[in-house]
Amino acid sequence: MRIQFFGAAGEVTGSCSLVETGQARVLIDMGMHQGDRDAWRRNFEMPPIDPARLDAVLVTHAHIDHVGRLPLLTRAGYRGPIYATSATCELTGIMLRDAGSIQESDADRANARRARMGLPPVAPLFTRDEVEPVLALLRPVDYDHAREVARGISARWTEAGHIIGSASIQLHVGAMGPRPDRRIVFSGDLGPRHMPLLREPEPPHGADLVVLESTYGDRDHRPLESTLDEFGQIIHDTVWARQRVLIPAFAVGRSQQLVYHLGTIVRRGTLPRFPIIVDSPMAAEAFALYKRHAALFDGDAEALFDQGHQPLAIPGLELVRGSERSREFNRIEGAAVIIAASGMCTGGRILHHLRHHLWKRDTHVVIVGFQAAGSLGRQLVDGAQAVRIMGDTVAVRAKIHTLGGFSAHAGRTELLDWANTFRRPDGSWPRFVLNHGEPAPRAALAAALRDRGASVQEPERGDAVVIDERE
Ligand code: ZN
Repeated sequence: MRIQFFGAAGEVTGSCSLVETGQARVLIDMGMHQGDRDAWRRNFEMPPIDPARLDAVLVTHAHIDHVGRLPLLTRAGYRGPIYATSATCELTGIMLRDAGSIQESDADRANARRARMGLPPVAPLFTRDEVEPVLALLRPVDYDHAREVARGISARWTEAGHIIGSASIQLHVGAMGPRPDRRIVFSGDLGPRHMPLLREPEPPHGADLVVLESTYGDRDHRPLESTLDEFGQIIHDTVWARQRVLIPAFAVGRSQQLVYHLGTIVRRGTLPRFPIIVDSPMAAEAFALYKRHAALFDGDAEALFDQGHQPLAIPGLELVRGSERSREFNRIEGAAVIIAASGMCTGGRILHHLRHHLWKRDTHVVIVGFQAAGSLGRQLVDGAQAVRIMGDTVAVRAKIHTLGGFSAHAGRTELLDWANTFRRPDGSWPRFVLNHGEPAPRAALAAALRDRGASVQEPERGDAVVIDERE
């Protein structure tokens, strides 16, 4: 039995691992590489997986770096089942259709430019139409119920607390002849403790081998409480001063998290009512999805329901779908909080809001997520005096606030605590394979696990890890 890593090996995107036994082949995630040009080019190179010989695809969660290349797999002829929790199945539809549309319009724009230069056109990675065959193969599974996914392999999804529907996956590979049965756990992306709405990550019990993410293997996040204190103060001050707050945020996950926290602030009752605008059709779809899956929410959210509150439907909230309504906020006066994608200000409606308000002293921009080098969001964080937005130079007179504690990922201590649950009563460890992390954080987490006595591997892209030497 072996596991081969085709992505997220020494990097954080492109998750895709193949588990092969003597009887079956199962793929865990089929994600998109994201980041620079090189990463984008790698998306067009299919991993050497024969779709006809693949028995099943198992998905941990619906982030695009975990599901973004499923359309390439179906285009290559894959017709087998794609298993995921039901929230992940629905969210995969939202995410892939959005990605297909973006790629089509990006390709159109690039091709107009290329035509003028006398260059041949380029094709999008996949089109919106190519998403539908993927969605037809999705098979929803329940959390915490083992089911057979291929000959001799059963799988169980447990809560990962990262985004709605996210899961760790435990594979149970049955005994074959003299070989004992084996349990392999894929952590998927793990959430931090106290992620609003979501339950805490629940490690599956028992493993011979654990594939563990290592995104923040070298550091802990700033505590959420102090981040929330600072966020609350900014909202308090700006609402009373009748100033506007712009928050660039991912449409799925982060936008819902922010609205949840704003609800906590609103329910204190110390502020006059103010508009909270979430300006994104995709975020609106995600809000509806979160509400449909409210049964997955944690105890804090349940307590709010019991007190007659809706954790995601707070006074003042408006979910904006149409672009006409969105444009009305170009002239907004008085207190308002506007949340819009993209999270790193690299596209989307946040650009329009920044263009119209960034040059005003009574605007506040609250940065709540990671900003990659080179992104507009990063320029703001780094204190740029002026920035280019859609061809215009815009002076930065707004106050920029950077809040560090809103991560959807477990920090180092939380990763180690999660790993610790696999320690056996006799003190021995399963083997660990670390993926989904840049080399430095991954090496730091590996060192910490080795210090505790575990054996740890750090595969590069394309490397295989053999589980039973006898095979
Ligand atoms: Zn993720």
